[in-house]
Order: sequence, then structure tokens, then C-alpha cells
Amino acid sequence: CGVVAVYGHAEAANLAYLGLYALQHRGQESAGIATSDRGKMYVELGMGLVADIFTSQRIKKLPGNMSVGHNRYSTAGESQIVNAQPCVINYAKGSLALAHNGNLVNADEIREVLVEAGAIFQSTNDSEVIVHLIAHSHGDSFVDRVIEALSAVQGAYSLALMTEHEIVVARDPHGFRPLCLGQLDGAYVVASESCVMDLIEAEYLREVEPGEVLLINEQGLQSFFPFRKQETRRCIFEHIYFARPDSRIFGEYTYSVRKRMGKALARQSPVEADIVVPVPDSGNLSALGYSEESGIAFEMALIRNHYVGRTFIEPQSPIRHFGVKVKLNAVKELIDGKRVIIIDDSIVRGTTSRKIVKMVREAGAKEVHVRISSPPTLFPCFYGIDTPNREELIASRHNLEETRRFITADTLEYLHMEDMLEVMGEDKGKFCSACFDGNYPVDIDGRGHQPIQL
Ligand code: 5GP
Ligand code: SF4
Ligand code: MG
Repeated sequence: CGVVAVYGHAEAANLAYLGLYALQHRGQESAGIATSDRGKMYVELGMGLVADIFTSQRIKKLPGNMSVGHNRYSTAGESQIVNAQPCVINYAKGSLALAHNGNLVNADEIREVLVEAGAIFQSTNDSEVIVHLIAHSHGDSFVDRVIEALSAVQGAYSLALMTEHEIVVARDPHGFRPLCLGQLDGAYVVASESCVMDLIEAEYLREVEPGEVLLINEQGLQSFFPFRKQETRRCIFEHIYFARPDSRIFGEYTYSVRKRMGKALARQSPVEADIVVPVPDSGNLSALGYSEESGIAFEMALIRNHYVGRTFIEPQSPIRHFGVKVKLNAVKELIDGKRVIIIDDSIVRGTTSRKIVKMVREAGAKEVHVRISSPPTLFPCFYGIDTPNREELIASRHNLEETRRFITADTLEYLHMEDMLEVMGEDKGKFCSACFDGNYPVDIDGRGHQPIQL
């Protein structure tokens, strides 16, 4: 998911809209913006893409100089409007709006306790438990109540909360998901990725730190570190696939990280070939790195149609590889008679690679070598990335040779774990890589969870 918040700007709703636009890649299922104006809260939500949901009329219905916005991509809870965020509620102490990126691992247990105590949930998503915990808290100030609520939850969160008068943002102690802070005409902007700051011409200030709670109000910024310190575990997959390459996350541009991964892959698994071809867009930068390191020419021999929606009307007579061909087409002239290295960021189910290899062969490739700029995806993510069940992950049921045969490549190599982490330099110990090694930083089966008390 994508999160934005604005404090102290006359165009708060518009800036949130632009922020969500820049973060569209983080979620396409639903989007919403809430604003606060003179003690009243306003919210507009919809299913689908930001540009389709928000018309200028709808933005006009969002007055005020504070806003929070959210793009949803579901990892917990179904795809329905009730699960769209920001989640806005009224409780004894006022109104609040919440936008959450991440996934809580103990949400079900907390929900049970809350429901026992009489809470009525509007949604099926995990984020709503935070709202209820805040409402249940007896803390004096809003930020105290937020801290109390967050002390009970475990897992991944990069959060933006808004009341009638202030904004509170927080990042979980492991720092799984990114979150950064910027400034624009004296206003503060918080966003999942720094590409938001670029679009709205805000100055990038810094990351919100793992475990940090930031209060933004009339007095300015106040930073708290109220939680027990944990080891930093940023999501390596943000750099591999999820974040935009023009974003600086976890202190580095994703662009450079991806390119270095491609270079590492070229050193680790070289192969004689004529051209290096990315699977666009996710393989572009690692292919560029692979090409630079190997000296083999980079060619954009797979072209992506950027206007692909969710459904297509297929003709009655079957077209081979239709699904992938609507999205990607091979440039025959570049591929015919060549030994081709295809680069992608990851293999999940293996169906994409299989279709691409076939397409490239049909375009006349003499050899097809597949190189993947991350290790085999072996385990599902429980911290906010939507990976399928273990059984559907091709690498969890098939070894390298079986996977190679399935995707029908001449050779297949993945970037090794150590080489991937080496790319992160000094910070290599600060990443979560559980989807590759099963090393989950936060217990996922409930054994280590603290019981909560209301
Ligand atoms: P596969 O066909 O192996 O399941 O899919 C692999 C492709 O999916 C790769 O090109 C990769 O870029 C992309 N991919 C990896 N993770 C995700 C994800 O979380 N969501 C989406 N939409 N695509 C993903
Ligand atoms: Fe990221 Fe993988 Fe860890 Fe999930 S399991 S947070 S996708 S590195
Ligand atoms: Mg891809």
C-alpha cells in the first residue's frame, strides 16, 4: 500500500491526491483521502485507480489544511470498499483517520479480544484494530493513545493518523516498510516513497526512523522512540521490486540498488550471449547492470503495452500466449538468430517466465538464458507484500533444474542470497529476507505474541 500525509498546507487534499498518484504502483485496488477542517473530518474513498476515483469535484469536497491518503493493495482482508482506507471513525475523544501500509501479524488475536469487549468492526482488514485500540486507550493525549495502541500490535506498519488538529505518523520498530518526511512551503509531508516529494516539489528531509513516532502539530515536529528497540529489518523486496526506482528508500535510491544487483548477477552467473534483454519494467535496471558488467549489449527487445487493464476480450479462435502477449511483445528483428539473456527481478509462480521464454524462442532466439536478480522466492510474506501461498511458489516445490525445465530456458540462475546482501554493503544485516530464507523477524504463528489487555 501507499501512504501520504500533509500538515499545514492550503492544498492538503490536492497534494495528497498527487502523492497517491505517484504511489499508484503500491496499490491499485482502492484509494482514499481524508481531510480535517475546523474540527470536522471529510473522507472520499473509491475502488480502482487514483485518477479514476478523484475528480476535481471530489477533491473540492475535501477542505482543510491537513490530509491523509492511502492506496490499497490487499494483503489482509478482501477487496471491497469497506476495506478502503483511510479508515475514519468517531469515538469518545473525537475523530480520527488512519492509513496503514504493512501487515500486522497479531491482528486476529487483538480483534477477538476487542470483539469480546463489544467492539464493532466495519472492515475485515487488519488495520482497523489499531483504530479500536486507540479508541480504547485511556492515554491523556492523542499521541499517548497511539503509542499505547501500537505497543500491542506486532508486525509491519508505516502509518499516518490524523485528528482534528494533528498528524501522527509511525514506523514499526523493525522498519519493514519505508516512510519519509519532507517539507513544502513550511508544511510537512509524509509519504511511503520519496518520489512523492519530487512530484509536489517538496524538500526531502529524512526517513521516519524504525520505531519512531512523529507528532506534527502547531508546535512543529516532535519525535518519540517509545518502543523497545528492535533490530532493523527493512524489506529487501522493496528494493528488488516494489518501490519505484526513482525513490530513495531506506537511505538509498532503488535505481542504484537494482543496478548493482544486476552487476552482481553478471559476476556470479555469466553466460556467453549476444544481447541482454529486460522483462519490462521490473527487470530494466538489473538488466542494465548485467549488461554494463558483462559488456553484452542491452536491448529493449521486449516491449510493454502500458495501457493494459485487468480484463481483455479474447477472440473466439485461440491466440497462443495471449495473456502475456497483450502485455509484452518481442521485437523479432533484435532477437532472431541471437543468444538472449532475459533478466527479471523475481520468479513467483513461474508462469510469466515460461511464457516469455516461449515468446522469445518464437521470435527466433537461438538460446534463451534466464537470470533473476533475487534468490528463489520460497516463503510467503506476512509483512505487507502479497505473495501467494507456499504451494504456489514454484521454487518451494521444484529445484533449480526442475524450474529451468518448467520455464523451458536453456539455463536459469538466480542471484544468490549472499551476493544479494553484499549489494547492500554495510547495511546488509539490516534487511528482512524472509521470503527467500524463511527467517521471519517477527513471529508469524502467534507463539511469541503477548496477550493484550484492554
Ligand atoms: P510469476 O509469473 O513468476 O508468478 O511472476 C513473476 C513476475 O511477477 C515478475 O516479473 C515480477 O516482476 C512480478 N512480481 C513479483 N512480485 C510481485 C507482486 O507482489 N505483485 C505483482 N503484481 N507482481 C509481482
Ligand atoms: Fe519483504 Fe520478503 Fe520480508 Fe516480506 S518477507 S518483508 S517481502 S523481505
Ligand atoms: Mg515483472
